[in-house]
Amino acid sequence: MKDSEKVKIKQINDIVSIVKIASLFFVTIIFFDVMFQKNGYLDMFIYNNIDFICFMLPILLLTGIYTLWTFSISRRYCEKSHKKIHIIENMIFVVLLFFCIIVSGGYTSEYKLIFLFIIITSTIQCGMNHGLLIAASSSILILALDLICGPNKSVNQYFQRDLILSGIFMLTAWPLGYYVKIEKEHIKELEKAINKDGLTNVYNHRYFQDKIREQIKIAKEAKDSVGIIFLDIDFFKNYNDLYGHQNGDKVLFKVAKLLEQNVRKCDIVSRYGGEEFSIILPSIDECELIKIAEDIRKIIEKYKFYGEENQPKGKLTVSIGVSLYPSKADDAEELIKTADDALYRAKFLSRNRTEFYECIFEGINFNVCKEDAEKITSIKTLISVINSKDKYTYGHCERMVFYTKLIGDKIKLSNNDIKTLVYSAYLHDVGKIHIDKDILTKKSTLNEKEWNIIKEHPIKGAELISQINPLKDISEIILHHHERYDGNGYPSKLKGEEIPYLSRVLTVIDSFDAMTSNRPYGKKKDYKEAIEELKRCSGSQFDPDIVRIFIDAIYEKKDMLEF
Ligand code: GH3
Ligand code: MG
Ligand code: MG
Repeated sequence: MKDSEKVKIKQINDIVSIVKIASLFFVTIIFFDVMFQKNGYLDMFIYNNIDFICFMLPILLLTGIYTLWTFSISRRYCEKSHKKIHIIENMIFVVLLFFCIIVSGGYTSEYKLIFLFIIITSTIQCGMNHGLLIAASSSILILALDLICGPNKSVNQYFQRDLILSGIFMLTAWPLGYYVKIEKEHIKELEKAINKDGLTNVYNHRYFQDKIREQIKIAKEAKDSVGIIFLDIDFFKNYNDLYGHQNGDKVLFKVAKLLEQNVRKCDIVSRYGGEEFSIILPSIDECELIKIAEDIRKIIEKYKFYGEENQPKGKLTVSIGVSLYPSKADDAEELIKTADDALYRAKFLSRNRTEFYECIFEGINFNVCKEDAEKITSIKTLISVINSKDKYTYGHCERMVFYTKLIGDKIKLSNNDIKTLVYSAYLHDVGKIHIDKDILTKKSTLNEKEWNIIKEHPIKGAELISQINPLKDISEIILHHHERYDGNGYPSKLKGEEIPYLSRVLTVIDSFDAMTSNRPYGKKKDYKEAIEELKRCSGSQFDPDIVRIFIDAIYEKKDMLEF
């Protein structure tokens, strides 16, 4: 339940409680009145001080206790389960008021209208049905009293009058209850409108953010799981450019429909932004989650969208990133981030695919010893710093690790060297942490001062890494990852075999990824152009053996990468 709704229920409960307490005071006044009457129906009561104490004190005490109870409970219970308590409470009130009527003259009592207090308050609090129930119960009690105790004449005036009173009771509960119902429905409609995306009619980003947190909270308490699917339409800019935004909007609408039709009832589909959708899947295991995501991907791939034949792959497709709480993330933020990282990986690995988040270290944790575990923790901390600062740098690291694994298998490195290379790939740009974001993302050519700052990053990175004891052996590789094979690199102008072997490997894959991905400066090359560039600079910038092995490795994964 939202905070605003809780506040609203609490305010209603407070005002209703005040009215109920007032009605209890009226009851007390009626008792006083009856007790001090000399004549009338209650002559049968014998009043003395003891009776007063026995009779009035409990009612006053009851009023006091009720006041304390109702205000404490309206603060604690704002949930729907509180409705049951209200129903019991209202029934007790009906009985108490009926007792008051009996005491104040039974069928002749002038105070029968007092039931209106409880009819109005119960209708406001619990809705039309409950209000009608209380009105009917009150009417039946009064009419039964008239019939049982009333004068046994042919025309029972009291019964006739109380029939009208019963009508008033019902006609108070019904329109008031109806008004409460209409208002509730209206609020629901408004809430729906606020939470829905105008174009696709699925939930919007704000609702998604609220719900994911709510679902994680529920799952945490119930020790349950929550899955998340992030979905991004591939080459959608291209589609818009070809067919205009109106046709683009139709695609967004259709994709949203397909998503809604192919998830479970309890799942929540939202438009996360532009052409990105997210789905929250409560209580789900890894297999089912991946299956739903993959089914969605296939369904969208198969669906015939208008003009899709002119998309780069001849089809309109989506890339999907998937993650799961609690196995892949500890909280809502991490769950979103991991799904986003998985989506990023799906985009990188040729799109139109589903990627389940996998921490890069999960794949390389063979025989994790204590020292490695420490290393991994240190690296994870540094990576999270990089990721929060610059998504490009992080994505670049992810791709670097991918290429590292490709080449690592080819050049037959020892397990230890592969691990060192992967860690180095992840951390090679850590020295950029100190560089101003404006310089890192500058589109125009860097001036000499800015260039000198950039050139310092291998030294800064190596310094930082060498302070972490288990990472010391990585620092040297990072220090030299911008050396050139011909000796014209930086910072130490090392040449050929003087450059550590793993640094030379890192230089090749770092440059290859820089060429093939979108960077603030420079035009992106396709894989073939980048391979040509590697060949052109082989022997000058790069180690020729490594270039040859790397190109072979890339060609072997031709289908996976976008050639
Ligand atoms: P990628 O495969 O890498 O995701 O490429 P992309 O072109 O899909 O991604 P990019 O982020 O470059 O472009 C997203 C496009 O989505 C750009 C924008 O025109 C389009 N878009 C965002 N919101 C809307 C919308 O509400 N309606 C329409 N028609 N297009 C939208
Ligand atoms: Mg996008
Ligand atoms: Mg896209």
